[in-house]
Amino acid sequence: MMFMIGQGERVLVVGPPEPRHCPRCDEVTGFEPQLRYKFAEFDLLFGMVYAKRYQLACPQCQHGWVLDTRTMERTLGGVPIPFRLQFGLAIGLALAAAIAVAAWRFNA
Ligand SMILES: [Zn+2]
Repeated sequence: MMFMIGQGERVLVVGPPEPRHCPRCDEVTGFEPQLRYKFAEFDLLFGMVYAKRYQLACPQCQHGWVLDTRTMERTLGGVPIPFRLQFGLAIGLALAAAIAVAAWRFNA
């Protein structure tokens, strides 16, 4: 049994700002490399991440570019998302399967 208790969106800054000219602000601003993702939480343990993307964004207007996920994760040496959100759904499904198998064995 899983109950969805929340969902949200997070933006993590994953590196030092790069000065770039922002066409929308029409000035040079410190563009931040960011990881933006949406997540759903089912309880305190299980979660799910979706719509994950890396981007270089203007801190003033959020205008920016999408960065290549594989390149970014190689540079960062991993995915900076909490373990329970990143793999929570898989853990939850594995637990549910284990319980289902146990129940099936019990009945047989
Ligand atoms: Zn801007």
